[in-house]
Amino acid sequence: ATPMALITGTGAASKKGLVIGNAEAIQTAGDVKVVILDKTGTLTLGRPALAHMDLDRRALSVAIAMESMSNHPLAKAIAEIEADPLDVSSVEEIVGEGLKALIDGEEWTVGRPLSMERYSDQLELGRTVVEVRLGEGVRGFLALEDPIRPEASSAIEELRSLGIRPVMATGDNRGSAALVARAVGIDPEDVHSEIRPEDKLSIVRSEQAKGVKVLMVGDGMNDAAALKGADVGVAIGSGTDLAIDSADMVIVSGGVDRIAQGIAISRKTFSVIR
Ligand code: ADP
Ligand code: MG
Repeated sequence: ATPMALITGTGAASKKGLVIGNAEAIQTAGDVKVVILDKTGTLTLGRPALAHMDLDRRALSVAIAMESMSNHPLAKAIAEIEADPLDVSSVEEIVGEGLKALIDGEEWTVGRPLSMERYSDQLELGRTVVEVRLGEGVRGFLALEDPIRPEASSAIEELRSLGIRPVMATGDNRGSAALVARAVGIDPEDVHSEIRPEDKLSIVRSEQAKGVKVLMVGDGMNDAAALKGADVGVAIGSGTDLAIDSADMVIVSGGVDRIAQGIAISRKTFSVIR
């Protein structure tokens, strides 16, 4: 592309709330055929609210104390709950998994359930489940609901009208993934749930292996590798620093609707016939 076209494209995108860190990316965006979307914080607001909990006082205090050390959207919602105060010093965060801490010589884990089986009623309601364990023993759980972004379904529709296939990649459970996918219009066979951060990159790679350009959009630490591996990586501006640093573009105002708008700007600016 000519430098002038890159400046025009970058400028038009920034007016739409899409800040371009890598000028080549705005040109590549026009060639994208598949858009892979993270769920939590990307298709949803990333502001989960507590819907249900079933755990004893000690486990609740531990969960709140541990989550107050994390920046994960789930952590913020849990850290707000009122309970007996408890101090924990060294909490280890495992990206896409949850938190671990030693408290009075005992190992506690707060995060992704070991098995989803016992939570079928929560999964049916589309809730995200955070399990609290002491050693290997399950001490209870919290269930959260994260509202879908108001612009998400029209954003997916706009992608389809540009001939682009939307795909979901989430670490969350299949019930919650299915509920969001149905609401926004992503086909069930294009939903990947209960996956690890490295699987998000594998999904990017497997789409690229079909010979198409792939755009990935996400907000979390668990999206960083996939954002880097994609032909175009787009971070949600309210997301984590790691996601923003890994991306070619950042959505600073608005939401996922900016993706289709950015692609349309690219096609117009570089006037590629497809
Ligand atoms: P997504 O891909 O949808 O953004 P993540 O990969 O961040 O989701 O998280 C996947 C799952 O891991 C969550 O649904 C949750 O069960 C668990 N998890 C991750 N981080 C935390 C945390 N800080 N606290 C509790 N649970 C967590
Ligand atoms: Mg996310």
